[in-house]
Amino acid sequence: MIIKNKQDEIQNFIKDASNYKGKCSVVYFPENESDVISILKEASKNKISVTITGNRTGLTGAGVPSEGIVVSTEKLNRILEINKDELFVLLEPGVILSTLQNELKNSNLFYPPDPTETSCFIGGTIATNASGARTFKYGPTRDYVLSINVILADGEKLIIKRGKTFTDGNKLQLETESGKKIKIELPDVNIPGTKNAAGYFCKKNMDVIDLFIGSEGTLGVIIKIKLMLLKAPKGEISCVVFFKQETDGLNFINAVREKSIDALALEFFDKGSLDFLRKDLPNISPKSDCAVWFEQEINNGNEDTLLENWIELIKDSNGNEEQCWFAFNEREKQKIKDFRHSISEKINEFMAGKGFRKLGTDVAVPNNNFIELYNYAKQITENEAIKFVNYGHFGNSHMHFNFLPDSQKQYEKSKVLHDMICRKAISLRGTVSAEHGIGKTKKHLLLEMYGQETINKMFAIKKILDPNLILGRGNLF
Ligand SMILES: Cc1cc2nc3c(=O)[nH]c(=O)nc-3n(C[C@H](O)[C@H](O)[C@H](O)COP(=O)(O)OP(=O)(O)OC[C@H]3O[C@@H](n4cnc5c(N)ncnc54)[C@H](O)[C@@H]3O)c2cc1C
Repeated sequence: MIIKNKQDEIQNFIKDASNYKGKCSVVYFPENESDVISILKEASKNKISVTITGNRTGLTGAGVPSEGIVVSTEKLNRILEINKDELFVLLEPGVILSTLQNELKNSNLFYPPDPTETSCFIGGTIATNASGARTFKYGPTRDYVLSINVILADGEKLIIKRGKTFTDGNKLQLETESGKKIKIELPDVNIPGTKNAAGYFCKKNMDVIDLFIGSEGTLGVIIKIKLMLLKAPKGEISCVVFFKQETDGLNFINAVREKSIDALALEFFDKGSLDFLRKDLPNISPKSDCAVWFEQEINNGNEDTLLENWIELIKDSNGNEEQCWFAFNEREKQKIKDFRHSISEKINEFMAGKGFRKLGTDVAVPNNNFIELYNYAKQITENEAIKFVNYGHFGNSHMHFNFLPDSQKQYEKSKVLHDMICRKAISLRGTVSAEHGIGKTKKHLLLEMYGQETINKMFAIKKILDPNLILGRGNLF
């Protein structure tokens, strides 16, 4: 097993994509299950903090250590089986999402969860219950995890298969491979009905696998994964529509939802986002206040009908049908994806260039409360004359409102505004994290969302599974 302890060799491991910075003494690169078990046994014995890390594309510092050692999953990167008949893939956590996507293309198969940053590891996406544009149709990562093998802090192994172990009300009994029995009591949590990646998933009579999905490296190391696959659709329509007025773009999104159009993705970009990208993409329609990107799957030669329906809806919503970017082949589709990806990437670059950590919301609320949240965020930020870009998975009423402060003073103010928007989302029955997780940067917001009593009970779950509190120290709690 490779072990790195020279500071210049481990620099990449003490920072994530949000520019959150930490520190650690050594990085281990286990190559198999027994490597992971021995690292954890030793760390438990010596009460050393262990941060499990994927590819650190996370945006909350969750995969970044604040002390102790790091366990990198990058050498656990084998795709073990792609089963075309039973539609599943068996793989290790360090497989890069884009590698899996490319492999599946060759087999005409498809794995729906698509966080925009495809260099993330599959293990990271499970530990954060990642989502993406296609979550609008297909739901989050959670819905595709069929089984996981998890090594607990003391080196014990759990094999958890979906549909096999459920809690009895709030009571959960687990048995490790060696026969050790573990009893846990789950709290009653009022989980929002939106997309959600905040805190442990706890529900009466739930499937036990869901406790571990989204647990952000705090309960164990996921070392083997079975994911559900789908047959690839025949094709997709992909299009960016520009609108002169923001309200038209927002109404377009509502209309798609109301008409129950079976869209694959439904994403929004405000004027700030378009202005931000204009330098690199001069063909962005100059008089637009916003844009919406949609995708829809094509099956059984229905492309013309679907296109006609979309054009009609675009016209009805005052969209600019002359200047839509329709993608008709893979290259053009990729260009649209790159447009989407470059917004978040450029924001990260802008903030890192100023020496700031990325400061963007990951809030989602029920659909009928979304416009209130949207207007609130805009108004309080405009009042302070702070620049921002607002975009995201608006089909799911999920908003990435990103601050672009010019000075330290504006940065400090932006932090206050960020938390005010999160509080507003809580008051509108939403979540402070729909997909990125809580990590180290949003703990105070998780506390506000669920309250101290629930957080204490979530912490009690962790304490039973990891009595020395070595795993993911500083995440969630
Ligand atoms: C440009 C950009 C766009 C993004 N867009 C999206 C988006 O649309 N949707 C979205 O959901 N996210 C998005 N993200 C965030 C990020 O890509 C996801 O959170 C991703 O799931 C993190 O994967 P990772 O491998 O980088 O994990 P890391 O950042 O390394 O770690 C994340 C967490 O997973 C834990 N972890 C990792 N591997 C394991 C394991 N094997 N066992 C247990 N715990 C583990 C870590 O301890 C940590 O808590 C974006 C990021 C960027 C930079």
